[in-house]
Amino acid sequence: MDLIPRIEKKILKFWQKEDIFAKSVKLRQKKPFFGFYDGPPFASGLPHYGHILASAIKDTVLRYWAMKGRHIFWRVGWDCHGLPVENMIEQELGLKNKKDIEKFGIKEFNQACRQSVFRCINDWSKTFNRIARWSDFSQAYATLDNEYIESVWWVFKQLWDQKLVYQDHRVTPYCPRCGTPLSNFELNQPGAYQDVEDESVYIKFPLKGQKNTYLFVWTTTPWTLAANTAIAVGPDFEYVKVKFNNEYYILAKERLVVLEKEGQYEIIQELKGKDLVGLEYQPLYPMKLDKQGYRVVPADFVSVEEGTGLVHIAPTFGEEDMALGKKENLPGLVTVDEEGKIVRGLKIPGEGKFVKKADRDIKINLKKRHLLFKEEKIKHAYPFCWRCESPLLYYPINSWYVAVTKFKKELVENNKKIMWVPGHLKQGRFGKWLEGARDWSISRNRYWGTPIPVWRCQ
Ligand SMILES: [Zn+2]
Repeated sequence: MDLIPRIEKKILKFWQKEDIFAKSVKLRQKKPFFGFYDGPPFASGLPHYGHILASAIKDTVLRYWAMKGRHIFWRVGWDCHGLPVENMIEQELGLKNKKDIEKFGIKEFNQACRQSVFRCINDWSKTFNRIARWSDFSQAYATLDNEYIESVWWVFKQLWDQKLVYQDHRVTPYCPRCGTPLSNFELNQPGAYQDVEDESVYIKFPLKGQKNTYLFVWTTTPWTLAANTAIAVGPDFEYVKVKFNNEYYILAKERLVVLEKEGQYEIIQELKGKDLVGLEYQPLYPMKLDKQGYRVVPADFVSVEEGTGLVHIAPTFGEEDMALGKKENLPGLVTVDEEGKIVRGLKIPGEGKFVKKADRDIKINLKKRHLLFKEEKIKHAYPFCWRCESPLLYYPINSWYVAVTKFKKELVENNKKIMWVPGHLKQGRFGKWLEGARDWSISRNRYWGTPIPVWRCQ
């Protein structure tokens, strides 16, 4: 039964005793070169099945080229920076958020990160050795070395010179616990999207100048309602004004199904979306605006597949919302702080609470004021932070981007020249990902990482 492990161990012993790996490299020193830099695993985590599988593949490819007579340069490395280490240290030091870290001292915090980084290295070399992966750990590179950081800076400079990096204020997927934006790549990590049950609400926005008349709006994120500054309609869709229990509601004709379940209604008037554009309404939570808001605007992303055909717009908390806000010159309101809590002092129900918790307070408040028509449970995929499991928010933030969309065509073209195993990945998952590639958010608003080499003039 244990025959194979016994043989393996015997071979490993022989390799070690005779220093076979070093000899195999030395033997081919004058042969054509084949270089390989390993994408580094996190030095602070233990190796798992995924690493072992990938290690076996990498090792096989390199041995193949060695047997073909190439001089192989293999270099493994350690990923030492980033949130995995920060999260670990935060837990060990009992720090709950960024404020705690700053109180503790950024220098001291980074020192603790630096000291902890390499604690798993022995487990790695043991595992690598046992699975017979050839590598020279004494030569390993580490992402915290200045030499490595300078190479990242060099890359950044190349991008800068080619005008491929820029800073932008944008609504980005954001983790309120880690206090940093996430890239779209991170959002595509397995497990980032989880099916959750949320409470969606149908809300009534009172129209100005028309008694008892309401714009009928649906949302899955009540906490964004205080930041509402517009309501969007599809200009070419059919809308109706209906009488329902002595009140008048405006919604898309195709969405009357929402009312059907609740009782009798009578159509009073039929309208086009463009007839509604420009109408003004009373906000649910009035705020001081620096531009004209609280009005109906046209948008091409409105759909009548779900909801009511009238879309609540909070330019600060949605990508499409912000784009529409720029186009229609709408004001934006920041009603949530960087920890994902409702800002105090704006008279928003649930102030000081995490947004998902404040949802309940807002619903209770709207119900009391007879502005909540009904609630409905929906199941939908919601993104979570892959590092700390917090629900992500879409949040306006300054971030640095690589302009991937500027060279997307070349990426797609070059992918055609690559031999993929298995072949379906080429046009499938990877090809589709390239086609949909967007500008890459590369900055993290954190402490333990490569600093971005940008200095701003006064
Ligand atoms: Zn997080």
